[in-house]
Amino acid sequence: MEPDPDCSLCPRLRSFRHRWRDAEPGWFNAPVPGFGPRGAQVLIVGLAPGLRGANRTGRPFTGDYAGDLLFATLLKYGLAQGRYGGHAEDGLALPGCRIVNAVRCVPPQNRPSGAEAAACRPFLAAELQALPPGGAALALGRVAHDAVLSALGERRAAHPFGHGALHRLGCRRWLADSYHCSRYNTNTGRLTPAMFEAAIEGMLEAIATG
Ligand code: SF4
Repeated sequence: MEPDPDCSLCPRLRSFRHRWRDAEPGWFNAPVPGFGPRGAQVLIVGLAPGLRGANRTGRPFTGDYAGDLLFATLLKYGLAQGRYGGHAEDGLALPGCRIVNAVRCVPPQNRPSGAEAAACRPFLAAELQALPPGGAALALGRVAHDAVLSALGERRAAHPFGHGALHRLGCRRWLADSYHCSRYNTNTGRLTPAMFEAAIEGMLEAIATG
């Protein structure tokens, strides 16, 4: 289930999209669809499209710094194939995972409101329902972590966010946590490439246990 290309459930985000559609008519400027096959064993969940990243290119995590670390790591672990070129026509394939954002439209200052996250939740819930039992959602950051728990009806108190944490959910799926692979987090040392790889390795080991 994908949102309408001119989804109006969040008036503030729709108006922000339209403002950027006028300013940059060559950009995507619409709800960004998921990337990768539905039903893959790994569902990577980000927060929301970056203004000059996914909102520009139309593909999650594509075209800004966060994609550089994410796709390099996915290529290393065989979750992606090809070459990441920073645009939606680079031929990159995701045989082993799918990537979505908890909120499909770019928010001002990268901050969706709680009401906007709730409005977009049914689209995330549909993605999670397609995740096979034994598979894992990898939440990039606390907001994505909370969005996954809410979409699945799980209690937040039972599953606190922590980088590298693994949560066995009632639906027989895993929730794996990582700090978001943003430029800010990597520049400040909050997330290093080694830490990100460790979170991915932990998730893959959990999937292997079923
Ligand atoms: S964030 Fe989601 S619910 Fe809100 S307008 Fe965009 S697609 Fe619609």
